[in-house]
Amino acid sequence: MDKILRTLICKGQVSLFALETTELVNEALKIHNPSRTAAEILGGLLTCGAYLASGLKSDNGCISLTVKAKDGDGAVSVSADSALNVRGYVDGSCESTLVGGTLTVVREDEGFKPFVGTIEITSDDVSDILATYFQQSEQIPTAVMLSAEFAGNMCVGSGGVIMQLLPDADDEQTGVATVLLERFAEEFNVVNFDAQEAMDGFFAHYIGGGVFEKLPRYRCNCSEEKIRGVLASVGKAELLNICDELGEVKVHCHYCNKDYTYDKKRIEEIF
Ligand SMILES: [Zn+2]
Repeated sequence: MDKILRTLICKGQVSLFALETTELVNEALKIHNPSRTAAEILGGLLTCGAYLASGLKSDNGCISLTVKAKDGDGAVSVSADSALNVRGYVDGSCESTLVGGTLTVVREDEGFKPFVGTIEITSDDVSDILATYFQQSEQIPTAVMLSAEFAGNMCVGSGGVIMQLLPDADDEQTGVATVLLERFAEEFNVVNFDAQEAMDGFFAHYIGGGVFEKLPRYRCNCSEEKIRGVLASVGKAELLNICDELGEVKVHCHYCNKDYTYDKKRIEEIF
Protein backbone atom coordinates (compact mmCIF):
# COMPACT_ATOMS: atom_id res chain seq x y z
CA MET A 1 0.00 0.00 0.00
CA ASP A 2 1.24 3.50 -0.80
CA LYS A 3 2.50 5.46 2.17
CA ILE A 4 4.62 8.35 3.33
CA LEU A 5 6.65 7.90 6.50
CA ARG A 6 8.79 10.45 8.25
CA THR A 7 11.32 10.42 11.02
CA LEU A 8 14.09 12.67 12.28
CA ILE A 9 17.71 11.56 12.32
CA CYS A 10 21.06 13.18 13.24
CA LYS A 11 19.87 14.33 16.69
CA GLY A 12 16.64 15.60 15.20
CA GLN A 13 18.31 17.90 12.70
CA VAL A 14 17.63 16.03 9.51
CA SER A 15 14.20 14.98 8.29
CA LEU A 16 14.00 11.64 6.54
CA PHE A 17 10.99 10.77 4.44
CA ALA A 18 10.37 7.38 2.89
CA LEU A 19 7.67 7.08 0.28
CA GLU A 20 6.05 4.20 -1.47
CA THR A 21 4.00 5.23 -4.48
CA THR A 22 3.58 2.11 -6.63
CA GLU A 23 -0.24 2.29 -6.74
CA LEU A 24 -0.15 6.00 -7.48
CA VAL A 25 2.16 5.46 -10.45
CA ASN A 26 0.13 2.51 -11.73
CA GLU A 27 -3.05 4.55 -11.65
CA ALA A 28 -1.31 7.25 -13.69
CA LEU A 29 -0.01 4.66 -16.18
CA LYS A 30 -3.52 3.25 -16.64
CA ILE A 31 -4.91 6.68 -17.49
CA HIS A 32 -2.06 8.03 -19.61
CA ASN A 33 -0.20 5.02 -21.02
CA PRO A 34 2.98 7.10 -21.43
CA SER A 35 6.27 6.12 -23.08
CA ARG A 36 8.81 4.55 -20.70
CA THR A 37 10.88 7.74 -20.55
CA ALA A 38 7.81 9.83 -19.78
CA ALA A 39 6.65 7.23 -17.23
CA GLU A 40 9.94 7.56 -15.35
CA ILE A 41 9.64 11.34 -15.17
CA LEU A 42 5.94 11.16 -14.27
CA GLY A 43 6.65 8.55 -11.55
CA GLY A 44 9.36 10.72 -9.98
CA LEU A 45 7.20 13.83 -10.06
CA LEU A 46 4.18 12.00 -8.60
CA THR A 47 6.36 10.77 -5.72
CA CYS A 48 7.86 14.21 -5.12
CA GLY A 49 4.39 15.76 -5.45
CA ALA A 50 3.12 13.49 -2.67
CA TYR A 51 6.14 14.46 -0.55
CA LEU A 52 5.63 18.21 -1.04
CA ALA A 53 1.87 17.94 -0.49
CA SER A 54 2.46 16.17 2.83
CA GLY A 55 4.24 19.32 4.03
CA LEU A 56 1.38 21.70 3.22
CA LYS A 57 0.05 23.43 6.33
CA SER A 58 -3.49 24.43 5.38
CA ASP A 59 -6.42 22.27 4.29
CA ASN A 60 -6.68 24.27 1.06
CA GLY A 61 -3.02 24.06 0.11
CA CYS A 62 -1.83 22.72 -3.23
CA ILE A 63 1.40 22.31 -5.13
CA SER A 64 2.33 21.65 -8.71
CA LEU A 65 5.53 20.51 -10.41
CA THR A 66 6.10 20.89 -14.12
CA VAL A 67 9.04 19.63 -16.11
CA LYS A 68 9.36 21.12 -19.57
CA ALA A 69 11.84 19.82 -22.09
CA LYS A 70 13.83 22.33 -24.10
CA ASP A 71 12.17 23.75 -27.22
CA GLY A 72 8.73 22.49 -26.18
CA ASP A 73 9.67 18.87 -26.80
CA GLY A 74 7.38 17.39 -24.16
CA ALA A 75 6.21 18.25 -20.66
CA VAL A 76 5.17 16.38 -17.54
CA SER A 77 3.02 18.01 -14.90
CA VAL A 78 1.86 16.88 -11.47
CA SER A 79 -0.38 18.58 -8.96
CA ALA A 80 -1.32 17.56 -5.43
CA ASP A 81 -3.35 18.91 -2.54
CA SER A 82 -3.20 18.77 1.26
CA ALA A 83 -5.44 15.69 1.30
CA LEU A 84 -2.69 13.88 -0.65
CA ASN A 85 -4.76 13.65 -3.81
CA VAL A 86 -2.07 13.49 -6.47
CA ARG A 87 -2.58 13.64 -10.25
CA GLY A 88 -0.45 14.21 -13.30
CA TYR A 89 -0.28 14.19 -17.06
CA VAL A 90 2.19 13.88 -19.87
CA ASP A 91 2.29 16.08 -22.94
CA GLY A 92 4.41 14.83 -25.83
CA SER A 93 6.96 12.03 -25.95
CA CYS A 94 9.74 13.43 -23.70
CA GLU A 95 12.09 11.16 -25.64
CA SER A 96 14.91 13.67 -26.02
CA THR A 97 17.08 15.04 -23.23
CA LEU A 98 15.58 17.25 -20.52
CA VAL A 99 18.87 19.13 -20.13
CA GLY A 100 18.29 22.79 -20.89
CA GLY A 101 14.61 22.50 -19.99
CA THR A 102 13.00 23.76 -16.79
CA LEU A 103 11.39 22.52 -13.59
CA THR A 104 8.83 24.86 -12.06
CA VAL A 105 7.29 24.31 -8.64
CA VAL A 106 4.27 26.32 -7.50
CA ARG A 107 3.11 26.13 -3.90
CA GLU A 108 -0.07 27.73 -2.61
CA ASP A 109 -0.69 27.36 1.08
CA GLU A 110 -3.16 29.47 3.05
CA GLY A 111 -1.40 31.89 5.35
CA PHE A 112 1.78 31.83 3.22
CA LYS A 113 2.75 33.83 0.16
CA PRO A 114 2.32 31.80 -3.05
CA PHE A 115 5.73 30.43 -3.96
CA VAL A 116 7.03 29.87 -7.48
CA GLY A 117 10.49 28.41 -8.06
CA THR A 118 12.03 27.59 -11.42
CA ILE A 119 15.38 25.99 -12.19
CA GLU A 120 17.13 25.08 -15.40
CA ILE A 121 17.51 21.31 -15.74
CA THR A 122 21.10 20.03 -15.92
CA SER A 123 20.51 16.26 -15.71
CA ASP A 124 18.11 13.67 -17.12
CA ASP A 125 17.78 11.98 -13.74
CA VAL A 126 14.59 13.01 -11.92
CA SER A 127 16.19 12.63 -8.47
CA ASP A 128 19.07 14.92 -9.50
CA ILE A 129 16.65 17.46 -10.94
CA LEU A 130 14.65 17.57 -7.71
CA ALA A 131 17.76 17.72 -5.46
CA THR A 132 19.04 20.65 -7.53
CA TYR A 133 15.66 22.33 -7.22
CA PHE A 134 15.65 22.09 -3.40
CA GLN A 135 19.24 23.31 -3.21
CA GLN A 136 18.93 26.18 -5.68
CA SER A 137 15.40 27.36 -5.33
CA GLU A 138 14.54 26.62 -1.71
CA GLN A 139 18.17 26.66 -0.48
CA ILE A 140 17.70 23.47 1.53
CA PRO A 141 20.46 20.82 1.29
CA THR A 142 18.49 17.78 0.19
CA ALA A 143 19.19 14.24 -0.92
CA VAL A 144 16.57 12.78 -3.24
CA MET A 145 16.59 9.12 -4.22
CA LEU A 146 13.48 8.28 -6.17
CA SER A 147 13.11 5.32 -8.44
CA ALA A 148 10.53 3.30 -10.22
CA GLU A 149 10.82 -0.07 -11.88
CA PHE A 150 8.59 -1.12 -14.75
CA ALA A 151 7.58 -4.40 -16.35
CA GLY A 152 5.60 -3.99 -19.54
CA ASN A 153 2.85 -1.46 -18.90
CA MET A 154 3.01 -1.93 -15.15
CA CYS A 155 5.06 -0.27 -12.45
CA VAL A 156 6.31 -3.02 -10.13
CA GLY A 157 7.78 -0.67 -7.55
CA SER A 158 7.98 3.06 -7.09
CA GLY A 159 9.07 5.16 -4.21
CA GLY A 160 12.07 6.74 -2.67
CA VAL A 161 13.71 8.58 0.09
CA ILE A 162 14.10 12.29 0.65
CA MET A 163 16.40 13.71 3.33
CA GLN A 164 16.52 17.37 4.22
CA LEU A 165 18.69 19.31 6.59
CA LEU A 166 16.46 21.29 8.96
CA PRO A 167 17.09 25.05 9.10
CA ASP A 168 18.39 25.10 12.69
CA ALA A 169 20.93 22.28 12.25
CA ASP A 170 24.22 23.03 14.04
CA ASP A 171 27.65 22.75 12.41
CA GLU A 172 28.37 19.28 13.73
CA GLN A 173 25.07 17.88 12.52
CA THR A 174 25.39 19.76 9.25
CA GLY A 175 28.71 17.97 8.74
CA VAL A 176 27.25 14.56 9.59
CA ALA A 177 24.21 15.20 7.43
CA THR A 178 26.29 16.36 4.48
CA VAL A 179 28.23 13.10 4.51
CA LEU A 180 25.00 11.13 4.90
CA LEU A 181 23.34 13.01 2.07
CA GLU A 182 26.29 12.24 -0.21
CA ARG A 183 26.38 8.56 0.67
CA PHE A 184 22.69 8.02 0.54
CA ALA A 185 22.49 7.27 -3.14
CA GLU A 186 24.76 4.25 -2.70
CA GLU A 187 22.91 2.98 0.34
CA PHE A 188 19.42 3.09 -0.99
CA ASN A 189 18.45 2.24 -4.48
CA VAL A 190 15.09 0.63 -5.12
CA VAL A 191 16.06 -0.36 -8.64
CA ASN A 192 18.88 -2.62 -7.49
CA PHE A 193 16.61 -5.17 -5.95
CA ASP A 194 12.99 -6.05 -5.48
CA ALA A 195 11.28 -2.76 -4.81
CA GLN A 196 8.77 -3.98 -2.26
CA GLU A 197 11.42 -5.73 -0.16
CA ALA A 198 13.65 -2.70 -0.42
CA MET A 199 10.97 -0.35 0.81
CA ASP A 200 9.84 -2.64 3.62
CA GLY A 201 13.43 -3.19 4.75
CA PHE A 202 14.16 0.48 4.58
CA PHE A 203 11.05 1.40 6.54
CA ALA A 204 11.87 -1.15 9.22
CA HIS A 205 15.52 -0.10 9.50
CA TYR A 206 15.19 3.68 9.58
CA ILE A 207 11.63 4.48 10.41
CA GLY A 208 10.86 1.74 12.93
CA GLY A 209 7.37 2.35 14.25
CA GLY A 210 6.93 5.39 12.00
CA VAL A 211 6.46 8.84 13.38
CA PHE A 212 4.05 9.95 10.78
CA GLU A 213 2.04 8.19 8.18
CA LYS A 214 0.05 9.55 5.30
CA LEU A 215 -1.59 7.77 2.41
CA PRO A 216 -1.27 9.40 -0.99
CA ARG A 217 -3.60 8.37 -3.80
CA TYR A 218 -4.19 9.22 -7.43
CA ARG A 219 -7.29 11.32 -7.64
CA CYS A 220 -8.33 14.10 -9.98
CA ASN A 221 -10.37 16.89 -8.46
CA CYS A 222 -12.11 17.98 -11.66
CA SER A 223 -15.90 18.08 -11.43
CA GLU A 224 -18.98 19.09 -13.35
CA GLU A 225 -19.26 22.08 -11.02
CA LYS A 226 -15.71 23.31 -11.73
CA ILE A 227 -16.12 22.88 -15.48
CA ARG A 228 -19.39 24.82 -15.37
CA GLY A 229 -17.53 27.58 -13.51
CA VAL A 230 -14.90 27.74 -16.25
CA LEU A 231 -17.55 27.73 -19.00
CA ALA A 232 -19.53 30.48 -17.25
CA SER A 233 -16.42 32.69 -17.44
CA VAL A 234 -16.16 32.07 -21.21
CA GLY A 235 -19.65 33.51 -21.77
CA LYS A 236 -22.88 32.23 -23.25
CA ALA A 237 -22.60 33.82 -26.70
CA GLU A 238 -19.13 32.38 -27.30
CA LEU A 239 -20.22 28.91 -26.15
CA LEU A 240 -23.28 28.94 -28.38
CA ASN A 241 -21.05 29.97 -31.30
CA ILE A 242 -18.83 26.95 -30.67
CA CYS A 243 -21.95 24.77 -30.51
CA ASP A 244 -23.11 26.07 -33.89
CA GLU A 245 -19.72 25.28 -35.38
CA LEU A 246 -18.88 21.96 -33.74
CA GLY A 247 -22.25 20.67 -32.52
CA GLU A 248 -21.11 20.70 -28.87
CA VAL A 249 -18.60 22.19 -26.46
CA LYS A 250 -16.08 19.67 -25.25
CA VAL A 251 -13.78 20.22 -22.25
CA HIS A 252 -11.03 17.70 -21.73
CA CYS A 253 -9.34 17.11 -18.36
CA HIS A 254 -5.68 16.22 -18.99
CA TYR A 255 -5.23 14.73 -15.54
CA CYS A 256 -7.90 12.03 -15.72
CA ASN A 257 -8.63 12.03 -19.49
CA LYS A 258 -12.29 12.72 -18.86
CA ASP A 259 -14.34 14.63 -21.44
CA TYR A 260 -17.13 16.95 -20.38
CA THR A 261 -19.51 17.70 -23.23
CA TYR A 262 -22.20 20.35 -23.42
CA ASP A 263 -24.87 20.73 -26.08
CA LYS A 264 -26.98 23.87 -26.48
CA LYS A 265 -29.54 22.72 -23.94
CA ARG A 266 -26.89 22.11 -21.27
CA ILE A 267 -25.19 25.45 -22.03
CA GLU A 268 -28.55 27.20 -21.50
CA GLU A 269 -28.77 25.44 -18.12
CA ILE A 270 -25.45 26.93 -16.99
CA PHE A 271 -26.68 30.50 -17.44
ZN1 LIG B 1 -9.93 15.31 -14.16
